Amino acid sequence: MHGVRLLPACLDLGRRPRLSIQNVVSIGGPVFKPRPAEYGPGAGAARFGIFKDSDIEETDIEVKDIEVKVMAQLEIFQFPTRSDNYGVLIHDPKTGATASIDAPEAAPILAALAQKGWDLTDILVTHHHADHTAGIGALKNRYGCTVYGPAREAGLIPGLDVEVKEGDTVSVGHADATVIDTSGHTRGHVSYYFPDQAPVFVGDTLFSVGCGKLLEGDAPTMWASLSKLAALPPETDVYCGHEYTGANCRFALTIEPDNAALRARAAEVAENDANGRPSLPTTIGLERATNPFLRASSPEIQARLGLEGQPLEAVFGEVRRRKDRF
Ligand SMILES: [Zn+2]
Repeated sequence: MHGVRLLPACLDLGRRPRLSIQNVVSIGGPVFKPRPAEYGPGAGAARFGIFKDSDIEETDIEVKDIEVKVMAQLEIFQFPTRSDNYGVLIHDPKTGATASIDAPEAAPILAALAQKGWDLTDILVTHHHADHTAGIGALKNRYGCTVYGPAREAGLIPGLDVEVKEGDTVSVGHADATVIDTSGHTRGHVSYYFPDQAPVFVGDTLFSVGCGKLLEGDAPTMWASLSKLAALPPETDVYCGHEYTGANCRFALTIEPDNAALRARAAEVAENDANGRPSLPTTIGLERATNPFLRASSPEIQARLGLEGQPLEAVFGEVRRRKDRF
């Protein structure tokens, strides 16, 4: 057993320190970061999830000389909007730059900005659907902010100023986001990944234990998009456009009932739902372990669908079809 060292300077900031996983690989594989309530000032021990053969075992471990990196540059504020959307503001305290991820509706975003004392400078639009763009006009009128969105949906997004595509960089103050083409739910859907800060904003491409419907794309397109997100580092925080996690878990358990990590996630989500707590953001590592739409290579899933050895996009497509009928 070893001792965890959380630097007091990090804890004083009142936000989650980010633990580097490199130093604890030797305890048995990649580790995802502990949840905020699970560590306390002064440290000593922390609760981690350890990936073993794609299952997650939660365990109390202690490790020595863990590296603590504080990503102090960006503040992220998530809040509910509409019936099942989440709004997200990201804020660079150094410059005051503040971006809204999508604009589901103006009023709750304006309230969130007022609550935080932030002025909106940018809107990063993931796709053209009204429940992601309806607030753009009012926000632009109020703040004169710059609206970024997918070039392939340019005619469908009101107030769009800057058209973006795969590989482009969008800056929010000092923080740079890489644009990832995650089409499939819509023809031009994009996600915004901040590699130095570790969040990715995925709109309606990836949900926790779910994915968006294939409204304008086919299964191979969506599988390619989801595969790009799944390839991000496991500790990446994933912010989704909607909270459907409870219903998604109920479906996922029909597809991969023996997945222990999924069963654990379903129990956690049920508890969150009962207590009115969000189950978002999630992480790439947790989704890889639990989300049937990322797990087309799972032997259990392939066997259950009678698709052993079939192309992964075909397995994914069948999971998606079953979800549409669920
Ligand atoms: Zn949508």
